[in-house]
Amino acid sequence: MVERNRRYDVIVVGGGHAGCEAAAASARLGAATLLLTHKLDTIGEMSCNPAIGGLGKGHLVREIDALDGIMSRAIDRAGIQFRMLNASKGPAVRGPRAQADRKLYRQAVQALLAEQPNLDIAQAAVEDIMLDEAGRVRAVVTGEGAEIPCGAVVLTTGTFLRGLIHRGEQQIRAGRIARDGALDPASIGLSGALARAGFRLGRLKTGTPPRLDGRTIDWAALDRQEADPEPVPFSWLTDRITVPQIACGITTTTAASHALIRANLHRAPMYSGQIASTGPRYCPSIEDKVVRFAARERHQIFLEPEGLDDDTVYPNGISTSLPAEIQAELLKTIPGLERAAMIRPGYAIEYDHVDPRHLRPTLETKSVAGLFLAGQINGTTGYEEAAAQGLIAGLNAALKAGGDGREFTLDRADAYIGVMIDDLTSQGVAEPYRMFTSRAEYRLLLRADNADQRLTQKAIHLGAASTERAIAFAARRDRLARGRALVEELKATPPALARAGLAINQDGVPRSALDLMAYPEIDFARLTAIWPQLRSLDRDTTEQLEIDGRYAGYLARQQKDIDAFRRDEALALPPDLDYAAIGSLSTEMRQKLAAGRPATLGQAARIAGVTPAALTALLRHVKRRDKAA
Ligand code: FAD
Repeated sequence: MVERNRRYDVIVVGGGHAGCEAAAASARLGAATLLLTHKLDTIGEMSCNPAIGGLGKGHLVREIDALDGIMSRAIDRAGIQFRMLNASKGPAVRGPRAQADRKLYRQAVQALLAEQPNLDIAQAAVEDIMLDEAGRVRAVVTGEGAEIPCGAVVLTTGTFLRGLIHRGEQQIRAGRIARDGALDPASIGLSGALARAGFRLGRLKTGTPPRLDGRTIDWAALDRQEADPEPVPFSWLTDRITVPQIACGITTTTAASHALIRANLHRAPMYSGQIASTGPRYCPSIEDKVVRFAARERHQIFLEPEGLDDDTVYPNGISTSLPAEIQAELLKTIPGLERAAMIRPGYAIEYDHVDPRHLRPTLETKSVAGLFLAGQINGTTGYEEAAAQGLIAGLNAALKAGGDGREFTLDRADAYIGVMIDDLTSQGVAEPYRMFTSRAEYRLLLRADNADQRLTQKAIHLGAASTERAIAFAARRDRLARGRALVEELKATPPALARAGLAINQDGVPRSALDLMAYPEIDFARLTAIWPQLRSLDRDTTEQLEIDGRYAGYLARQQKDIDAFRRDEALALPPDLDYAAIGSLSTEMRQKLAAGRPATLGQAARIAGVTPAALTALLRHVKRRDKAA
């Protein structure tokens, strides 16, 4: 319940991944925070696939954890199939992923929110945002007409802004179909409020597959994918995973599936012209896959159980908006699913998003002070992308409401979170944005294994980390420092190493144990045979030292690029810069820069099509302006 006339520092709208993370972050920083969402029991709901992490996305979750967020701890309590993706490749591109028990995940998120001392949670639809005379946020207005005053607002409305569901010819106004098949309401008023406030809105699309009754699947006919034998937690606060681990099934579409889809394309909203907006390129619907990859004879499907005590199965790989009866026919063409019962058909949804170039790196809008946006509303797709933005928006909303002028931002050399926010705010989106390791230019540094070393000190410094986090971080940092000192101190000459069976260049230069860890062919067991005292190091420490040792040379070289990048980032561009007044810029450059309003010279350079000549003109203009001031 919200007390009448109570003023909150921060109001977070939406109980999805962005909203929960934003509310927890704001409350952690001590701001009096209110989370308002349509339905309390859908807080922490996974709208689509029951899984967290993956390539690039797993990095985001580790970074969320390093900043003391909640997604990592929630999935550690709810994960029923942990796997380290790319385990055979270099540590920079390994991606932790876990399939989730949906109910356990929701319960974990709700329990973690309940632990936050400064957080109230209430059920309400927010329809409008009120501004004061200076154009700053002053209150939100609920569907019942209640006006709740606040210092800052974080909007995290997901797929709900003017949501329109498509299934075959059917169109339904809704924000999502809930797990019991009920319709969650679309958010209409807020969309209008954002448009009236001058924000450019775009329209995107996403989709979900039908859900199946696991009791009707012929599991014996299918290949299986098992969990890792030793699940690795997402959070540095989790000692070990205690949730039982399960396998999922693997099947494929067939020639008959593809023929059925082709014969019914005219009834697929993406192809009948009913949907005009763009969907996630890397998560296409099955009808899209059949058209775009026409030569492929089959497409893989993972059959993922949605819970330990839930018979619902999520068929990952056949997201579709074909009519329900065609979806039922499609299942009959798939090995193992011939007799599968469909619990709920799949669907596609179109929704409004705000052009993220309206945002600053804090995720506050440039034009309305105190208004922050995070998650799918900014044109991203995925739980992890949403949660990571929620964390940054929540921290900054709390700082804004606190009024001491502090801000918390991350750049492209700090974190994947920094890469994502910079991509969004400088480039905007033409399709739903998803994180990949290839988006990060400094990915040798931005690894999932070292996210705590990159970020936790920043959270502690800000006052956004719990005591438990600070203690765990200090303990690991000290263990690593002691381990590093030991491996640097233990040295041997090339002849001594040769006698121990290590093929080292006989160049007369002694090697430390740390130097030797950089050789991929020398594993830690070989080194402990030479220096038994290394056995005193725990496994986490040795693994981290091995990775650090392997990357040390590359990282030293990368540091030069990072220094150059940071020099450009340090050149701030005034938010009120009048690009029209810079005579040496072409009209095209003026338009691009005015639309993007980059915060730094570095960000200006990353706007597509901005030329080096334009950057030089910009730099000269700003320096002249600074001198004149
Ligand atoms: P959501 O999780 O959507 O949460 C929004 C929250 O805001 C909800 O709690 C809602 O009730 C609340 N809300 C909205 N408006 C208001 C209001 N006016 N007042 C109060 N509360 C409000 N992601 C992928 O990565 N891959 C996929 O293939 C994929 N497919 C999807 C398919 C479907 C059909 C859907 C619905 C989503 C899909 N997603 C997919 C997206 C994924 O669910 C989102 O990226 C993620 O949930 C976004 O999190 P969020 O916090 O931004 O929003």
